[in-house]
Amino acid sequence: MTSSWLQLAQKTAIVTGAGSGIGAMGYTVARSLLNQQCRVIQVDRDEASMQHITKDASVVQCDVSQEDQVRNVFVQSDNPSILINCAGITRDGWISNLSNDDWDSVLDINLKGTFLMCREFIRLQNERLKQGEDRPACSIVNVGSVVSELGNLGQTNYAASKGGVLGLTRALAKEVARSHIRVNAVVPGFIDTPMAQQVPVHVQEQIRNQIPLGRFGKPEEVADLILFLASPRSSYITGECIKVSGMISL
Ligand code: NAP
Repeated sequence: MTSSWLQLAQKTAIVTGAGSGIGAMGYTVARSLLNQQCRVIQVDRDEASMQHITKDASVVQCDVSQEDQVRNVFVQSDNPSILINCAGITRDGWISNLSNDDWDSVLDINLKGTFLMCREFIRLQNERLKQGEDRPACSIVNVGSVVSELGNLGQTNYAASKGGVLGLTRALAKEVARSHIRVNAVVPGFIDTPMAQQVPVHVQEQIRNQIPLGRFGKPEEVADLILFLASPRSSYITGECIKVSGMISL
């Protein structure tokens, strides 16, 4: 995608989960935003996983499930108008074996982390409006999963967290539409990242057989949709949860 078409140049975007996979600098969301001359604030719980590559790519260590750390991200961010919530984890297991910690950590990071980041972003934008600043239109992009709709063995915690992310996305979109803040979600199927590579190889094979396009998605194929939803090119799209899944059925 050419930089002029997406109109992302000189905007500032916060990207969580920027240390790996879909959000990462290697070749996906953070990198694609930089290629559009967008300033990028990379956020991950592991600082070493993020790359300090240009003056337009800064790094903030943050566990998105921790309110004080989330606040600090916004203290360190100069006028962000885009928020992309990619941070997420899985802790798979049959429900009878799932510990409280397996449940809580997945809900805390995937759902509460998305909530905390969105809330702080909205508070910042409200503050800017109150101070009479000429605030640009803003966009939030969350990341769900087809598993919340299709179900998947061993993922009750993950499916619940991602269902919550989609509900949050639709409700928040209504709340903030009049403030010119759009909120959408991408809903990936199985994407070839370190998260999907944790799935046993024989299960990966079974999943691949359920994908009409015959392969897992590439992180950059999710990144392209995220960039479009983040950009002013999608200015009349809000409250949508859009699949990028090769038409998977589980
Ligand atoms: P990934 O390669 O594991 O990347 C996720 C990144 O988020 C990692 O760097 C991870 O750090 C970071 N992270 C985890 N917990 C965090 C926290 N509390 N605070 C800040 N950062 C945290 O996974 P991915 O496949 O790119 O996943 C990105 C998003 O897509 C996730 O929300 C995931 O649920 C969703 N998704 C992925 C797939 C797929 O098939 N890959 C499908 C549907 C949805 P650590 O390495 O330290 O955990």
